[in-house]
Amino acid sequence: MVYNLPATMIESYRGMDLIVRSHDPSEILQRLAPDDLERLAYLQILGTGGAIDPLLRWEPPIPVDLLVRNPEADLPRLYRYSPLPAKRPVRVSVPVAAGFSKVVKLALSLNFAVKLEVSQPEPALIEELLQVATLYLHQSTVSQAVEFLHSLFWGFYNRTPVTLWAIQEEDPALFLYVTDQGAETLSRRFAGGELKYEVASFIKEFSAALLSEKQECADCAFFENCAGYFKWPRREYRCDGVKALFQTLQAAAEELRADLASYDQPGKEDRS
Ligand code: SF4
Repeated sequence: MVYNLPATMIESYRGMDLIVRSHDPSEILQRLAPDDLERLAYLQILGTGGAIDPLLRWEPPIPVDLLVRNPEADLPRLYRYSPLPAKRPVRVSVPVAAGFSKVVKLALSLNFAVKLEVSQPEPALIEELLQVATLYLHQSTVSQAVEFLHSLFWGFYNRTPVTLWAIQEEDPALFLYVTDQGAETLSRRFAGGELKYEVASFIKEFSAALLSEKQECADCAFFENCAGYFKWPRREYRCDGVKALFQTLQAAAEELRADLASYDQPGKEDRS
């Protein structure tokens, strides 16, 4: 279990596995004790406008997750963080909102990994997501992961279902988000909202309810990978677009499996 919590609450969770967040990197560094480093998954910087020098001077190679709030406005500020990957892995978390694909392209060119924060994308954003998927799957210069695409693709390739809840760090069996008020919930997008179920059993009960309604999830080919992720907060959200995205990733994974299988066939080299 990893707790994502504000820097002000480190003392209350000392000894646990942590993701520590703040707008100000120096606030996190000041509050960390040397023993905390072993249990620190990464630092989360809430915005692109904060001071970067403290991170450049800090030696421990702990990863940093940089949260983009507004893709179009924050885009030029990513250049400020370009020296960081020399010292530690950097991931940019960007909301799937207008202009997000520009952030993805720039982040990858700066050698940052990417996490797409997705909720219920409208058709124009589905198009942008499909373009990013094509870039991730087929652009040979991409050397960093673009989540959630990366883990879904490998889940399909290995035929091992992995749910979006887990990939997106929203599965309470693996991650808990501690709000600024100290409440524990699934993730930032659930902070302050009313949950119909207990946090610990939310995914199980929410997805079971979706199946019992016998609506779109009940006969969805991707339920094992999704478990109703795209039905929150609005259950009436139509999933045609996200299913096309799942299909794209699955088809690419199957194509890779077939390519590797044919390459492994005895006598293949003789025939080529
Ligand atoms: S893609 Fe949509 S329909 Fe399919 S399981 Fe996810 S939320 Fe349900």
